Amino acid sequence: MRNKVIIFNPRSANGKHRIPNSILQVGASIHGKHQYVFVDGNLEKDPWQTIEDYLKTGEFRYFGSTVMPGPQLRQAIPFTKKIREAYPDVITVWGGYFASNQYKVALESGVVDYVINGPGDNTFPQLISAIESGDTDTIFLIRNLIYKNEKGDIVKTAVEALLDQDTLPKLPYDYLNSFYPVRNYLAKTFMGRKTLSYHSSMGCPFSCSFCAVVPIFNAKWKGMSAARIYEDVKYFKEKYNIDAVEFHDNNFFTSKKRVLEFSELIMDDNISYWGEGRIDTINMYSDDDLKLMRRAGCRMIFLGAETGNDAVLKQMNKGGTQTGRMIRDFVLRMKNADIIPELSFVLGMPADTEKEVYDQILWDINFIKEIKRINPDAEIIIYLFSPVPTEGSALYRQITDAGFSFPETLEEWISPSWENFDLRKNPLTPWLKPYMIDTIRNFETVLNGYYPTVSDFRIKGYKRHLLRAVSGIRYKTGWYHFPYEIKALQKIWKYRQPEIEGFYSE
Ligand code: SF4
Repeated sequence: MRNKVIIFNPRSANGKHRIPNSILQVGASIHGKHQYVFVDGNLEKDPWQTIEDYLKTGEFRYFGSTVMPGPQLRQAIPFTKKIREAYPDVITVWGGYFASNQYKVALESGVVDYVINGPGDNTFPQLISAIESGDTDTIFLIRNLIYKNEKGDIVKTAVEALLDQDTLPKLPYDYLNSFYPVRNYLAKTFMGRKTLSYHSSMGCPFSCSFCAVVPIFNAKWKGMSAARIYEDVKYFKEKYNIDAVEFHDNNFFTSKKRVLEFSELIMDDNISYWGEGRIDTINMYSDDDLKLMRRAGCRMIFLGAETGNDAVLKQMNKGGTQTGRMIRDFVLRMKNADIIPELSFVLGMPADTEKEVYDQILWDINFIKEIKRINPDAEIIIYLFSPVPTEGSALYRQITDAGFSFPETLEEWISPSWENFDLRKNPLTPWLKPYMIDTIRNFETVLNGYYPTVSDFRIKGYKRHLLRAVSGIRYKTGWYHFPYEIKALQKIWKYRQPEIEGFYSE
C-alpha cells in the first residue's frame, strides 16, 4: 500500500550526534497507526540517496521533516524541492521552529504542503488519517496546522492547549535502534562517558521578545512528572549504562517541585545532569535546594543572563524579576553551591543612535568581566542579537523600522549570508556596524582564551596554561584587537565553543 511515511532529521552538526528527539516524538505520534521509517541526516553518508531509495519503492506517500533554523535548512530545503519535482504526489509536511516561525516562506515556496505549528502529537496523525480517509474537508478542524486552501489563502488553524506530557506515548527508542544503533547517540562529554539527550517539557511560561519559543507556545509550559522522566533515565541506565543527561528543554527548571523530586530520584544513580533555566526562577530555590541538586548530579545550568543593564532587560521584555544585581548575587550563590552557571549574553541590541548601540556593547563587556571576577567558573556564551518575528511586539517594530527584514524565499535562507543567522552569530542587523562586531568577536576570543570552557575537556593541562598565559595580558588590560595568536592556538587544538554545536563530545 502506498501510504508509508518518511520522517527525516536533516543534518544539524558535524560532531558526535545527539539522539534525535524531535523525530522520535513524531514517530511516537503515529507508532502502531501508520507505517514509517526514520532517516537521520546526521548519521547517513548520503541521506538523499536513502530517501530516494524509499521513494522509488512507490510505498511512501508522506515526507515529514523537522526544520530548525540554521544548518538543517541545507538539507531540508533542497531535499523537499527535489521530492516535489521528482515525486509530485508525495505530501510534504514540515515541523520545528523554522517551519512554525517562517511558515509563509515555506508555504509560498510551493514545495511544502503543511506546516505543523508547535507540537504535532495529535496534529500529525490526524492529518494523515484525514488525507487517507479522503476527509480533507475537515482538515481545517485539526489544531496546530498551517496550510494553503484551494483558493491559495494561508489557513492557520486553532492552537491546541499543551497536552499532559505524561499521557504522551513513550518514544520508540527500540524502533529507532532498528535504523541506527541508539548507543551511537550516547556521547562522551565533559559530564560523562555516555550522555543522553532528553526533552522533558514543552514551551516556556515567559515571553522574552527575542525568543523563537514565544510565537509558538505563547507563554505556556507543560512538563512530564519527575517519575516519568526518571523511568526513561532508568531505562537508559539499565540498558546502555548512561552516566549523564543533557535536558534540552527550553526551561527545565520551571517547576522547582519537579526538579527537586527528580534530583531525589537520581540521587544514588551516579548520573550528572545539565539543563536550561532562568536566573530569576532558580534564584527562588534555597541554598539547600541548590546543594541537593548538586549532590544529585547537577553539574551546570544554562541561563539567559542577556545583559546586566536593567533598561535593556526591560526592552527585551524578559518578564520575571531579573536585574543586573540579581545576576551578580546569583553567580555567587551558584559558586557556593558548586554548580557552574553557563550564562548567555545577547549583545548588539538596537538603540536610538549608533553611539548608544556601541556604548551598550562596551558596558556589557565590562559586566561580563565583573561576573567572571565574582565567579571565575561561570561559563560565558556571547550571542549577537538576532531578531525573531514576534509580530506586534515593540521590539519587532523597532527592528523593522531600523531596516531589518527576513528573506522572502527559501533559496535566500540558504544563501551564505543567511544560513548561520539563527545560530545568532551572523550580523545581518543594520544597526550593528562592522567595528562593533569586531569588538564583540575579539573580546569573545580573548575571553575564551583566558577562560577556556570546561565543556571542551580536551583543553586541559599545558594547553590550558598556554592559552591563559597568551591571553592574560590582553584580558587584564582590555586590549582585544587582532587576537591572532589566540585564534591560532584555538584553531590548532580545534577549540569548541559550546554555542555552535553543543558541548564538545566524542
Ligand atoms: S525564558 Fe528562555 S525559553 Fe523562555 S521565553 Fe525567555 S528566552 Fe525563551
